[in-house]
Amino acid sequence: MIDPTTLRTDLFVDGGWRPASGGRRLDVVDPSTGQPFASVADADPQDALAAVAAAASARPGWSARAPRERAEILRRCYELMIEREDELAALISLENGKALPDAHGEVRYAAEFFRWYAEEAVRVIGDVSVAPSGANRILVQYQPIGVAVLVTPWNFPAAMATRKIAPALAAGCAVVLKPAAETPLTAYAVAEILHEAGVPAGVVNVVTTGDPGPVVSAMLHDPRVRALSFTGSTPVGRLLLREAADQVLKCSMELGGNAPFIVFDDADLDDALDGVMIAKMRNGGQACTAANRIYVQDGLREKFVAGLAARMAALPVGPGTAPETLCGPLIDQRSVDKVDRLVTEAVAGGARVVLGGRPLDGPGYFYPPTVLDGVAAQARLAREEVFGPVAGVIPFTTDDEVVAAANDTEHGLAAYVYTRDLARGLAIADRLESGMVAINRGLVSDPAAPFGGVKQSGLGREGARDGLLEYTEAKYVALSW
Ligand code: NAD
Repeated sequence: MIDPTTLRTDLFVDGGWRPASGGRRLDVVDPSTGQPFASVADADPQDALAAVAAAASARPGWSARAPRERAEILRRCYELMIEREDELAALISLENGKALPDAHGEVRYAAEFFRWYAEEAVRVIGDVSVAPSGANRILVQYQPIGVAVLVTPWNFPAAMATRKIAPALAAGCAVVLKPAAETPLTAYAVAEILHEAGVPAGVVNVVTTGDPGPVVSAMLHDPRVRALSFTGSTPVGRLLLREAADQVLKCSMELGGNAPFIVFDDADLDDALDGVMIAKMRNGGQACTAANRIYVQDGLREKFVAGLAARMAALPVGPGTAPETLCGPLIDQRSVDKVDRLVTEAVAGGARVVLGGRPLDGPGYFYPPTVLDGVAAQARLAREEVFGPVAGVIPFTTDDEVVAAANDTEHGLAAYVYTRDLARGLAIADRLESGMVAINRGLVSDPAAPFGGVKQSGLGREGARDGLLEYTEAKYVALSW
């Protein structure tokens, strides 16, 4: 059990904890009850600019530290996070609502970014070549970009923060993190770890606010800021890209998805069912990589739908913090209403309810595991992110048909393909317009791999070497002697 009085709830600026300058507080709500259980400082633009000032003055010293020293501090962050797995998981589960096994998985995944980038910090390798004319050498070095503003969503409150902070620090940048208002406590728990691990004052700052528009805008217009890394919805991403244009900031955008999950007749049925449960139900369906459209070829459809319904029906629904829960609440009532609307419309459009299909009575924001069969391709359920525990099955017959349907969206983040024929799987992967494809796997995320989307799912990559380069700029020196 979390004792809210032991939590950090003030802004983390310049290595210290301080209240918001206006004295305002923001409630943190437990989504399994709908009741506030804590509050955090509610920053205004002035507080955010104080954080930018702290980052700007700490940045040169941090950039100048030996890469090995930065690496060792990041390694310590990894160790502390793993030591605190139980308490962090309990906190994530309480403020986000996700089931405890999901929360533990998130803490381990989040910690891996510190470990991976501790290893990468000493391998920021440039390039030397002879100019084609032979007149000089071309020397390329990757230098830290400067102060970066990081904006993160509520669905993975620890991992979305560490996926940005770890590469930024490895590269030698200083940052201001603006976490989602729904899950601020996890961000402060991560800040505490960074502080204890020896990250110098000002290198990482965290400001929470209930009014993100003006707070983020003030930072994006401060000339000391050089980069923005955003994870969240596509509409807010578009808005921030426009704001970032004023100072021509380097932008990394991890936006919404609408992942197709394609099951061919020659797939291993049990493997495909295991995979779809992970791809659909991690975090109760509230993941950007969540299987949003489940395409099943005609020959396997009946068995697949029956197997999926049996597995979904076996998931205990309840508060995330209850040990038996495997499907927690959604983040808020708005999300329940949206899922309800999408399901109701899909059913009106001809889909058959195999399981669930109606919100649960309160308190809390619960929607039960739901399976719909025969969802129309044009249904909003298949065109928008559902962000809930609803599996909509769409039948298909040919490879060409399913590729065309899968690509018929403005998104292109993750896609999943199940087939025993690897050549077919690779050929389909080649044709899918998405940044990531999993073949016979329900999970794509890995700190060692470049995570990101094409089309309106985003710009840039997180994880791997690509993720670190987002926080650098290439400096080219022409050298003659
Ligand atoms: P959101 O876009 O509403 O909010 C994301 C962040 O932006 C939050 O910190 C929020 O406070 C802030 N924000 C909101 N309005 C803002 C504004 N006007 N100006 C500045 N900042 C603003 O998204 P969400 O509901 O928190 O998260 C869910 C979305 O995130 C989904 O679309 C999901 O697919 C996406 N997501 C993407 C990835 C990825 O890696 N591609 C990962 C996780 C979540």
